Amino acid sequence: MDVLDAKYPFFASAREAVADAAVSLPELVGADAPAVERARERVERALLDGTIESESGPFPADSAYDTQAELLSYPIARILVSLLDSEPAIEKYAAAEAATAMDRIREDLATDDELQSVSTPTVSLADVLTEFDLDDAVRSEATASIGGNGIGGGGVGGNGIGGGASEGMSGGNTGSTGNHYRIAVGSYLDLTSPAWGESWRLVNRALADGAVRLSRDDLLRAIESAVEDRVREGLPFELADDSEIAAELESGVADLKRLLSERTYAGPIDVVAPDLFPPCMTNLIEKAERDAELSPPESFALMAFLVGIGMTPDEVVAFCADTSLDAEGIRYQTEYLRDDRGTQYPPPTCETLANYGICHNENDHMKVAADPLAYYEKRVAAADEITDWREQHEGDGDGDDESSRDEAGGDVGENDLTDR
Ligand code: SF4
Repeated sequence: MDVLDAKYPFFASAREAVADAAVSLPELVGADAPAVERARERVERALLDGTIESESGPFPADSAYDTQAELLSYPIARILVSLLDSEPAIEKYAAAEAATAMDRIREDLATDDELQSVSTPTVSLADVLTEFDLDDAVRSEATASIGGNGIGGGGVGGNGIGGGASEGMSGGNTGSTGNHYRIAVGSYLDLTSPAWGESWRLVNRALADGAVRLSRDDLLRAIESAVEDRVREGLPFELADDSEIAAELESGVADLKRLLSERTYAGPIDVVAPDLFPPCMTNLIEKAERDAELSPPESFALMAFLVGIGMTPDEVVAFCADTSLDAEGIRYQTEYLRDDRGTQYPPPTCETLANYGICHNENDHMKVAADPLAYYEKRVAAADEITDWREQHEGDGDGDDESSRDEAGGDVGENDLTDR
């Protein structure tokens, strides 16, 4: 088992490594091996925090788990998710696995770009494309022969996509210094969605000779979708009622279900009063308004909060119009935070946000609530009069959920909540 298998456990080589190791998952679970605890953490973090990275730190540098535990936690996590028996849980789990994988891939590519000597193995863009059978479908413009079809000064040369070894990714034109790529239109349509935003609609893309032009960031986003599909594939497993492993994991599944029911709200608060937002969220919004990039946990926490208070993706886009957050990224993230059953996963707890340095627990108000939504709910309940932000910005969002609250009651005195 090597580090790359553990970093990217959905790769074919990792599956082979698990098979070759000939370990018995039921025995591992029965022995309560570290992989089992890591699997439980993997699922919990995926569902509640949108990442599968360990609380102990990123793998492999800072994680408390070794390579074997990290790798074997993946198949066990998939069993746990299957036993949760919840389609939204599967979607969120797959999205979190993909998001963390892409963080790792970006880091690997940055390392590659800087030609640093590294102590841990990394993947290249060509490796990732090969893994997803995209090496013939994608090529870099940096080395592609561009003809005369008007894209960036020229079209794809006569070989077309995958039209010759010299143009193939294995020929080295995935050089990670290239800023733009061409992807075969079929692969583009398979991996992207118009729901990601206007710019992803095919009509808004430069298309020539059956290939679509993509920036490197966009290509990585499309690859994230491929990772998500790979993780999603085969879930949920059908496990027999008398399955030994299901019985062994029963208490872990019950813990996760309890956690989810405690943390899943019956419905959004559905009132947008920025003056009453908790300081952690106000700080994130102000940071984005200064045009500073939000880290993935910061942006996840903010999006989960805004969706949690009842905002639609369009409203979130309008609300964040003057910030560093781009509309497509917002739509992508808010899409999987909302689910069809009218419930959604709230932002991470105050404790988790404190670990990320997002919460500074001003005036010790962690005592008031365990998470930012609960805190906001109390502030809303305690306010005398609230004008919903959406009332003042009709037409900025999709306009179908205006609401206002007057004379809201509540048993939390304003003096208890004056810390912003
Ligand atoms: S205690 Fe909770 S609600 Fe308050 S700032 Fe920290 S994370 Fe936000």
